[in-house]
Amino acid sequence: MNKTHLLLFVSLFFGWSVFSQTLKSPEEYLGTPIGTKFHFHHQLISYVEYVAANKPENVKIHRIGYTTEGRPQMVVAIGSKENIQNLERIRQSNLQNIGLMPGQGNKNIPTIAYLSYNVHGNESVNAETSVKVIYELAAENSELVKKVLKNTIILIDPCVNPDGFDRYSQWYNRYLGQKPDLHAASVEHHEPWPGGRFNHYLFDLNRDVAWQTQKESQQRVSFYNSWMPHLHADFHEMGPNSTYYFPPSAKPFHEDLTGFQREFQETLGQYNKRAFDQNGWLYFTKENYDLFYPSYGDTYPSYNGAIAMTFEQGGGGPAGLAYKRKDGDTLTLKDRIQHSFSTSLGTLEALSDKSEKTKEEFYKFFNDAQNKGYGKYKSYIMKFNGHEAKIKALTEQLDKLHIEYSFANKKLTANGLSYQNQKEESFGIDENDLLVNTYQAKGVLTKILFEPKPYLEDSNTYDITAWALPYAFDLPTFASSQKLSGTKTKPNFDKKTNLEKNQRVFAFVSEIKSFEESRFLAQLFKENIKIRIQETPFKASGKSFGHGTLLITRKGNEGLGENFEKKILSIAQNYDINLLPLTSGMVESGPDLGSGSVDVINPPKVGLIIGAGVSPTAAGDIWHFMDQQLQYPVTLIDGSYFSRIDLWTLDVLILPDGQYNQIVKDHKEILRWVSDGGRVILLEDANNFLAGKEGIELKPKTDSEEKESSNKIYGSRERDAISDQIPGAIYKINLDNSHPLAYGYDKNTSIIVKNKLGYEYLKNGWNVGTLGEHQSGFVGQNLKKSLKNVPVFAIQEHGNGKIIHMLESPIFRAFWFGGKLMMANAVFLVR
Ligand SMILES: [Zn+2]
Repeated sequence: MNKTHLLLFVSLFFGWSVFSQTLKSPEEYLGTPIGTKFHFHHQLISYVEYVAANKPENVKIHRIGYTTEGRPQMVVAIGSKENIQNLERIRQSNLQNIGLMPGQGNKNIPTIAYLSYNVHGNESVNAETSVKVIYELAAENSELVKKVLKNTIILIDPCVNPDGFDRYSQWYNRYLGQKPDLHAASVEHHEPWPGGRFNHYLFDLNRDVAWQTQKESQQRVSFYNSWMPHLHADFHEMGPNSTYYFPPSAKPFHEDLTGFQREFQETLGQYNKRAFDQNGWLYFTKENYDLFYPSYGDTYPSYNGAIAMTFEQGGGGPAGLAYKRKDGDTLTLKDRIQHSFSTSLGTLEALSDKSEKTKEEFYKFFNDAQNKGYGKYKSYIMKFNGHEAKIKALTEQLDKLHIEYSFANKKLTANGLSYQNQKEESFGIDENDLLVNTYQAKGVLTKILFEPKPYLEDSNTYDITAWALPYAFDLPTFASSQKLSGTKTKPNFDKKTNLEKNQRVFAFVSEIKSFEESRFLAQLFKENIKIRIQETPFKASGKSFGHGTLLITRKGNEGLGENFEKKILSIAQNYDINLLPLTSGMVESGPDLGSGSVDVINPPKVGLIIGAGVSPTAAGDIWHFMDQQLQYPVTLIDGSYFSRIDLWTLDVLILPDGQYNQIVKDHKEILRWVSDGGRVILLEDANNFLAGKEGIELKPKTDSEEKESSNKIYGSRERDAISDQIPGAIYKINLDNSHPLAYGYDKNTSIIVKNKLGYEYLKNGWNVGTLGEHQSGFVGQNLKKSLKNVPVFAIQEHGNGKIIHMLESPIFRAFWFGGKLMMANAVFLVR
């Protein structure tokens, strides 16, 4: 029998069993040649489930939750038979080795790689590539794969943003004919608003990794923290005229990246360039993609000890299945898949070859912080009294980050840097003050998220340059070089209002102090409870109340009958609201409860403009804020038909950052509605189309800017442009907290400034928030002068209504907790 006959015999004899053991490739399973179609998410997931069912000894699916729109999120673990059998023990050992789980771990475990594809939904090459990578690894198709599987567990998230991914596929497939159309004008290269990049609520999930404000990020990062991988690769796409980007990354690097992490950036370059050089594929390194802002898919893992990186294929939304590039080449989905597949395997090989050193450095990263603390400041102290709700919110954020904290259990005096005064001073620590020190496994991450002024080695960065949590949560904070810790027992956040038996309450009184009162108010509105507000300070039952106090009187709520007390208290308890019960309408000082200075506040009907011209993420910030955080109804109105709606059916209209010249056909219509009692809230650039118009108080600053020198150097034009930029810095805002917009605030707060501002103070209006001193982050040299004496939050009264100018968003990316109360005040209390 010659060889051919033997083969034929063997395959006939064992035919059935051979076929049943052969894993189908994605093309065979899905029935389409690779790169000829954008699949739907459920198709790709179906293939992943097929692989796991047919290769259970090598592949295990972890189901981590569902997206807002109900699509499954999963991470697949792939490894050798032995490693998959020991998967749970490997996971636990890894956490034990770095002090994030009690017990002694086995040091001799495989390295753990985590590959994340398609965090931006319309960068679709990535999910298409992920199933090919899963197949390649599960089928053990090559010697390289066998080598990698021996000493590596590979975790693969095939699609981080399923809702965005399907939004793109669903749109693109609608317009595809027999062949993709290369013509630049073809609709298939022009994705409509909002595009598939974002998740359901139009958040950029690659800016949300540390903050985890979105369901998808919460589930994903929770899974990440349960594994703590040694390497994380984040797969993206950039514009279709770019080539391919892989590490080493661009500067700035965050100063806290370790020598080994920096060195590994070079290693990744060496491994990944091989396939590109062999095939003649163009690429670049060391440009554009830096490692600084801590909430990306590369930096967050880096600050959690991992080797982490971004990959970018040229393509994305406009590329479709085929795209005519400016350089004349045609870029196809098939090419894009080849490149991303190649860097996936190149990266796994690099890790596999350096696995021992990687583990050693990884353990050291965590153990050093635990033993020695990390950073110049070893402890951060946040004041508790009067800030309970904000402290509670911050501890919830720290829990998501697995950062440990404690509460002071005795009074102390210490020295340290005051975040608010920006200087070293002596300060008192009181019982229950929140203490976070860097003597912990997550000490480096703690330092990076709390440090008052991150060191920026190069200002050429494309995201915010300051983020310190004490500013974001608007908490009086000190940083100290001492190691401070207290008790792990949480102070009692649940406030109960105690009534005497059968006590008949005349009115409940609630001081506005935090966003919890806004949420309480929203719930009262939804339950049709009549609410009043006292603008003038008063004193009752021995307690003093400042500007803006909520009154819930029995009068007006007769419908509740004898249930009045029980109903109001049960709602208050859900929001940890401390209500003061009064049995009389007469107060000790200030106006009585029936005074003319007390107003009824009614639940507003709120509209939000979305659609072409509006920044999707800015619209998403407000939508998520209203719907998920405040939990109050908001009507989304597309700009395309805005001019045809009846404005008089709304009380509040919100215009997020965007260009409104095409949306608002007649701004005088808005003014007529405002004059009749409407309230319009304009955020960031939404102010531009109204500013300076007749009847509008907001006017651009006129003071002549210094003339720039005409001797500019062509070769340094990119660097020079930085002088005119403010990618995002923290400023103090001085507040008039007697105005309803700033009820509940102290005399100042902090926000992220990323606009040039540049408007005059309102002459006839209320400059409620004005720009104070710079606190943290990069500001271009040329802007430093113009960012002075400008309003940030200002209100013009017009007839019976209000024009509310918010020249910066107080609720940036949903993690800026300190601004949420102001946004809620704008919607509910500025009337
Ligand atoms: Zn991306």
